[in-house]
Amino acid sequence: MAIRQIRVEGDPVLGKKCREVTEMTPKIATLIEDMLETMYDANGVGLAAPQVGILKRIVVMDCGDGPIVMINPEILETSGEQTGDEGCLSVPGKAGQVTRPNYVKARFLDEEMELCEIEGEELLARCILHETDHLDGHLYVEKVVGGLHEVTYDNPEEN
Ligand code: ZN
Repeated sequence: MAIRQIRVEGDPVLGKKCREVTEMTPKIATLIEDMLETMYDANGVGLAAPQVGILKRIVVMDCGDGPIVMINPEILETSGEQTGDEGCLSVPGKAGQVTRPNYVKARFLDEEMELCEIEGEELLARCILHETDHLDGHLYVEKVVGGLHEVTYDNPEEN
């Protein structure tokens, strides 16, 4: 496993649409291991493949209940609303208020390429939506209301 360099805002790779993963390969398995290591090293709760320069539809997350790996995630349902501070490992040292659905249901492939479903509320819902946005080239800063503010700690609540 290896820690990969996290791309920051302004890097064109963060604005691109990622491609679907069609089969699990040793290279993709290594990428997933590296993404988890990189996320934990940076004290993040989520990381998407484009953040390490790879345009594939893969995200990793850990909102406190252990690692979740989602390949080709697809949002099936959302409801409700939550507004809170959001940050991103690709926008270091900053956070801003973002309104998102409070509930999300998504489907994805796991590391065995088995179809899975996940339901999440609050932080988990926010994280799933934030990471899925990365795969279509979107950063949370596009959704911020009221501007970004500095955060004094170097581990944003979200990424
Ligand atoms: Zn992010």
